Amino acid sequence: MTKLEKIYEGKAKILYTTEDPDLLIQYFKDDATAFNAQKKGTIAEKGIMNNHIAAKIFKHLAAEGIESHFVELLNDREMLVKRVQIVPLEIIIRNRAAGSLCRLLGLTEGMTLASPTLEFCYKDDALGDPQVNEYHIRALKWASDDEIRSITTEAFRINEVLKKFFLNLKIELIDFKLEFGRVQNRIILADEISPDTCRLWEIGTGNKLDKDRFRRDLGHVEQAYQEVLRRVSQ
Ligand code: UDP
Repeated sequence: MTKLEKIYEGKAKILYTTEDPDLLIQYFKDDATAFNAQKKGTIAEKGIMNNHIAAKIFKHLAAEGIESHFVELLNDREMLVKRVQIVPLEIIIRNRAAGSLCRLLGLTEGMTLASPTLEFCYKDDALGDPQVNEYHIRALKWASDDEIRSITTEAFRINEVLKKFFLNLKIELIDFKLEFGRVQNRIILADEISPDTCRLWEIGTGNKLDKDRFRRDLGHVEQAYQEVLRRVSQ
């Protein structure tokens, strides 16, 4: 597969067309942003680590019957993916309180939630990805009722699979963000799942192995991503 035309460049990834109109190449960059891109930087070799981590996770999800846009790993920074029409929503699932939920409700970081929660955010950088609910999604035609149902069911299923997957690696899945896309008449998981998009705490020590190390200047950012890659590669 060769890269033909750049069709999209985001904060962490670039998408290119290929000879096959149904397939794209997803290229992972080292750029990192936080707080709605107010904080910018790079994490050395993050693109390589996230590409490999996301590939491992997508393969594990496929083995558990969860379809994603992932087709195959091409090289250190690129994966081949199905071309989808992205639903303009970020789906956030949480198992413990952290980040924006703590700010919203005045909760202590790490507080256990009695059951997982789900939030929809409208993907719009200029607006700071505001939280929305199903009524907004329907009223603005971002997704149909069926699509909302299927996204919700799939997101909670992915949570169960990923919680177990990380638990085996002595990592607790605190929260994460998903994006979905349309292909033919289906909705499938898209984008990436990596330490950029999840909160991952080492079991026993509580060490953060995710982008919070960059957001909060905790140091050892590259080492944390490397440690996640090492564990998912076991
Ligand atoms: N997240 C993400 N992209 C976003 C917003 C959030 O990948 O644009 C992830 C984030 O890494 C965390 C989870 O979603 O794992 C919940 O993020 P939160 O709402 O707490 O926002 P934050 O405080 O991280 O900005």
